[in-house]
Amino acid sequence: MPKAALVYISLLICCAGIAYKVSTWFRYSLGSEKFTVLSRVLAAARGMWQTLWSRQFLTILKTFFLNVLFQARLLRVAPLKWATHFLILGGFTMLLLMHALGDYLNPLIFSNYYSTLNPFLFLRNFFGVLVFIGLGIALFNRFIRRDPARPPTSFMDVYTLAIFAAIMVSGIVLESVKITSVSVFREMAEEYATGQDEASLKSLEAYWVENYGVVSPGLARPFSPESLAEGKVVHSVNCAQCHSPARWAFMDYAVARLITPVAVYFDGDAVRSTLYYVHFFICLFGLAYLPFSKVFHLFTSPICLLANAVMDRATSNPANLMTKQILELDACTHCGTCTRNCSMAFIHRIIPNANILPSERLASLKLLASGQELSVRDSLVIQDGLNLCTNCKQCTLVCPVGINLQDLWFSVRETLVGRDIPNLLVLSPLSIYRGMRKDHIEITCYSRPISQARKAIADEFESSGQPRSVYTPGEEKVLDTPGIHLGQDACADCFRCMTCTNACPIVRTHTQPGSELDLLPHQLMQAVKLRLWDLVFSSKMLWECLGCYKCQEYCPMGVPATDLIFALRNVAISRTSRNIFQKTLETL
Ligand code: SF4
Ligand code: SF4
Ligand code: SF4
Ligand code: SF4
Repeated sequence: MPKAALVYISLLICCAGIAYKVSTWFRYSLGSEKFTVLSRVLAAARGMWQTLWSRQFLTILKTFFLNVLFQARLLRVAPLKWATHFLILGGFTMLLLMHALGDYLNPLIFSNYYSTLNPFLFLRNFFGVLVFIGLGIALFNRFIRRDPARPPTSFMDVYTLAIFAAIMVSGIVLESVKITSVSVFREMAEEYATGQDEASLKSLEAYWVENYGVVSPGLARPFSPESLAEGKVVHSVNCAQCHSPARWAFMDYAVARLITPVAVYFDGDAVRSTLYYVHFFICLFGLAYLPFSKVFHLFTSPICLLANAVMDRATSNPANLMTKQILELDACTHCGTCTRNCSMAFIHRIIPNANILPSERLASLKLLASGQELSVRDSLVIQDGLNLCTNCKQCTLVCPVGINLQDLWFSVRETLVGRDIPNLLVLSPLSIYRGMRKDHIEITCYSRPISQARKAIADEFESSGQPRSVYTPGEEKVLDTPGIHLGQDACADCFRCMTCTNACPIVRTHTQPGSELDLLPHQLMQAVKLRLWDLVFSSKMLWECLGCYKCQEYCPMGVPATDLIFALRNVAISRTSRNIFQKTLETL
C-alpha cells in the first residue's frame, strides 16, 4: 500500500476519533438537568456567536495569549512542569512543522528549506534535543524522584511519554544509520559527483569518512593528507551546496559515532527500510490514536481554558455548562497539581480509595457521564471519595488547564443521588443542599437516595435486639468518649419530660411529627435507654436532626441528646458502609 494512503487512513481514523470525542461532549451528561443533544449543540453555537460579538472576546484573546500560548497558569503553579511542557511541546511542534509536514509547509514557511543545510540541519537537532531534555525531566520526575504527593502513574501517562520517546528515538536511529551508510554515500556520489574518476571518488569517500561519519569497510585509516585534500576539493565542487558540516547535526552525528563499530551491519536497504517503516508506523499510530490518548488535551485544554475564562454558573446557559463539564473530562492532563493541593488528599494515606484524590476521581467520571450503569462498588468508591471533599476550591484554583473542578464535584453529586445506590453521607435534605450548592432542590431529587440510605442502615441494625452486640469495641469508644459521657448510660436520667421534643425545631416543621419522624426526641432517648437499636437506627428523627443543640441545652437532666445523636449516626454510618463494601466485595 502506498505511504500516502497509509497517512490518509491514519488521518481519517484521527478525524473520526476527534468527531466521536466531540460528539460525547454533547451526548454525555452530568448533573440532574436534562437537555437534548440538539439543544446543547444549538446552545453552544449561540454561546460562541454571542461571545464573538461581545466584550468577552477581549477576555478570550487575553486568555489565548496568556494561558494557552504562554501557559501562565502552569508557570504560576508548577514552573518545572511549565519548562518540561515547553521543551517537549515546543520542540516537537517545530519538528512536526519542519520535518513531518515539511512537504506541505516548507514551501510556505521556509522557502529555501533543505534538511542537510544550515540553519535547518542545526535546528532539527536543536529541537530534537529540546524534546529529549523535556522527556528526561518528565521521566525523572515520574519514575525516579520519590514524591509522595504525586498521584499514581496511569497507563495513559506512560503511553504519552512512550509514544513521544519512540518517535524521537526511531527517527534519530534512522538518521544516524543513514549518516554511517556508505551505500547511501555512494548513491549520492553517483548521482551528484558525475564525471569524477575512481581515484577522486575514493578521495571523496575518505573525506566523508573523516568528516561526515560515513563508515566504509573498504577504506583503511589513516588517510593521506593528499587524498583528504583532493576529497575536499571534490566535495566543495559537488556536495557542499547541499551538505553543511556534519558537526552541526550534533545529536545525529553523536549517535552515528556511537554506532560506528557496528554500522556495517546496518548498511543495507533492508535495514534502512525496516528502520524507516518502524519510525513511519509509530508516527501513524500516534496520529491515529491521538483522540483516545492523553495527547488529545492539546485540543481540549485550550478550549477548556477559553471556555472557563468567559463562563460561570451564574450567567451561562446550563446546557453549555453541562457541555463544558464533559469537555473538561477530556482536557485533564493528569498532571496531579490538584491532588498536590487538595486539602483532603492526606486522607488517602489512611483510606486507600483513589477517588479521594481529585485527579483520580476525575478519571473515574467518564463512565458515569456516559450514562452507563456503574457497579455498586464503583459508585460507592466514587461517592466515598466525593463525600470527603470539603468544597474548598483549591483544586479549581490551581488546575493549569482551568478546569472548574469544584463545579464538577457538585454535578457529580447530583448525578449520584439520582442513581439507585445508597449514599450514606447524604442522609438529610440539608446535607444534599450543602453538597450541591443549589438554591432549590425538588424533593424528588433527594427523597430516593435518602430513603435508600436510611433503609440500608435500618436493615443493618434490624436484627440486633441484643444490647451489647450492636457495638464493636471501637464503636463503644465513640459512644463513651471520656468527658462527654455518651453511651446508653447517658440517657439513664431521662424521665420523658418532653422538653427536648417541645424545643426541637424539626418537630415543629411537621404536622404529624409522631408518625412522620418515627420517634420524637424524647422517644429517641427512651429507645436508647431501653436499647431498642432497631427502632433507634431506623427512625427518621435520627437523620432529620439539624444538630441545633436546643434539646441538649434545655434538658433539665443534662442528657447530652445532640451529642448522642451525632455519635449514633457515626456508628450507624461506619458500620453500614463497612458492611455494604464488604458485601459488595464478596459478590465480585
Ligand atoms: S484536573 Fe487539572 S490539576 Fe488536576 S490532574 Fe487534571 S489537569 Fe492537572
Ligand atoms: S474542593 Fe474537594 S477535591 Fe478540591 S481541593 Fe478541596 S477538598 Fe480537594
Ligand atoms: S428533655 Fe431530657 S429528660 Fe426530658 S425527655 Fe428529653 S432527654 Fe429526657
Ligand atoms: S439537636 Fe436535633 S433533636 Fe435536638 S432540638 Fe435540635 S434538631 Fe431537635
